[in-house]
Amino acid sequence: MGSYASYNAVSGEFSKYYYQTVAALNDLNVKIVTLAPNEKQNKPIEIAHSANSKYAVINNEKQLTQINVFDENKKKILQIDLNHVHVKLKEHVHIFGKNDKYHPPKDQYRPLNEEEENMVKRIREIVKGL
Ligand SMILES: [Zn+2]
Repeated sequence: MGSYASYNAVSGEFSKYYYQTVAALNDLNVKIVTLAPNEKQNKPIEIAHSANSKYAVINNEKQLTQINVFDENKKKILQIDLNHVHVKLKEHVHIFGKNDKYHPPKDQYRPLNEEEENMVKRIREIVKGL
């Protein structure tokens, strides 16, 4: 079990460990993470530990809430939200632009594609068994 820091965009530092890895889907480079023991609230995941990684966040009710997708430079490129409604879409993908760091742009979003739907399905199967 590993844990990793969330990136603080203001200070530019990895200031604190927020999440811990509880499972992985290695072929898709997905790490399934939960809040670290002392954390009560989900924090945005801004930067990856390794290139092209994906972090799937499980909340305290064991629900998959979000998948954060990073590129080869460890920059966040997609945020797949699964438990809040955005413009009538409960499940949606926010697309991060080159200069978007902290908050996803309001108008750049789309429904999940088939590949993403399949990934969500596989992650939910794993989460069921945790
Ligand atoms: Zn959203």
